Amino acid sequence: MTNRREFLTKLSAPFLAMPVLAELGINCTNEPYNGPILKVALMGLGGYATRVAEAMQTCKKAKITALISGTPDKLKTWQEKFQIPAKNCYNYGNFDAIKNNPDIDAVYILTPNALHHPQTLRVASAGKHVICEKPMALNARQGKEMLDACKKAGVQLLVGYRMHFEANTVDLIKQRIDGQFGKILFFQGLSGFRIGNPSQWRLNKELAGGGAMMDIGIYSVNGARYMVGEDPVWVTAQETKTNPMLFKEGVDETIQFQMGFPGGAVASCLSTYNMNNLDRFFITGEKGFAELLPASGYGPIKGRTHKGELNHQHVMHQTTQMDEMAGILLEGKKPLVPVDGEEGWKDLVIIDAIYKAAATGLKQLINYK
Ligand code: NDP
Repeated sequence: MTNRREFLTKLSAPFLAMPVLAELGINCTNEPYNGPILKVALMGLGGYATRVAEAMQTCKKAKITALISGTPDKLKTWQEKFQIPAKNCYNYGNFDAIKNNPDIDAVYILTPNALHHPQTLRVASAGKHVICEKPMALNARQGKEMLDACKKAGVQLLVGYRMHFEANTVDLIKQRIDGQFGKILFFQGLSGFRIGNPSQWRLNKELAGGGAMMDIGIYSVNGARYMVGEDPVWVTAQETKTNPMLFKEGVDETIQFQMGFPGGAVASCLSTYNMNNLDRFFITGEKGFAELLPASGYGPIKGRTHKGELNHQHVMHQTTQMDEMAGILLEGKKPLVPVDGEEGWKDLVIIDAIYKAAATGLKQLINYK
């Protein structure tokens, strides 16, 4: 006999997308929405902000109401494109004035990694919620300071973990919680691409805080945690560098790392800026397996288990993310996997340990304190 999940996975995506997304706890209906709208200021109008802004055009619960940029020309173009009044446009020198602007509930920080920490502290002081891109900061110490500053200011801090709302990913996590795979024994995470332009900030230690690990390896770190359902308690790591001219001191090209989890599962992961076609998560347990391939790109994400394929319809990740974050910030909604500052900080604790393990060659025990 076909069980309900098998039945659902076999039906075609368009029929299923809305009800199944709703069942997964993701807001997706075509019902008109009359609730509160999250008013968002985007900070740093670069490549990813462009994608977020496009995706937000179809949000129901979140709206771009303000812009913060260091480039006057961009401010002008974006202001016209998104119909933002001049009084809601700021630069990095004057944005503390958002404090007195009721058109802003939250600031989405989309600048290079090194700026996340100081900018979060300023946004928190201005009394606005913070949505910060990954990696949340350059290290766990900075991350902790951000947590403390937001707590002190009475604002929430969320991290842009868009995969936590992606339907195939959420379905697999639910199946794991339901015990479909049994006790999880192993996770594999492959995260990498070949980086282009040698002059970009991603290859500058000061602005990026590292290399591939900070940018793309973090997906395997975070993915291991939501796929296994636990936080690792030890790591080992090995670094290889084939191009020291491109990947200077402190900018990692390729790191292989292993993690151990409290329940006994182990993980084997690869983070690299030197190879393409690496975006896969895989878990195997005592009763079955699950795979996401691709696992963390902009989609469509593809998932399968020992029982068959998952076929949830693709929705721009940032649309779902921002609607769900509006639910968290305005209505106190709780996502299946948290996207709060603590979640971002834990990834940094693990990354700090991975860098230390790679540098020393020694196994590092992880203490989340
Ligand atoms: P970009 O370089 O495309 O954009 C960054 C923007 O930040 C710039 O356009 C600029 O905007 C502003 N900025 C302020 N100071 C600096 C500086 N010193 N150097 C360069 N830019 C500066 O980067 P991305 O948009 O790709 O990445 C931004 C953040 O988003 C990173 O933390 C990255 O990890 C994250 N990201 C997350 C993704 C995800 O899927 N979650 C995907 C891609 C990136 P302005 O001119 O308006 O000031």
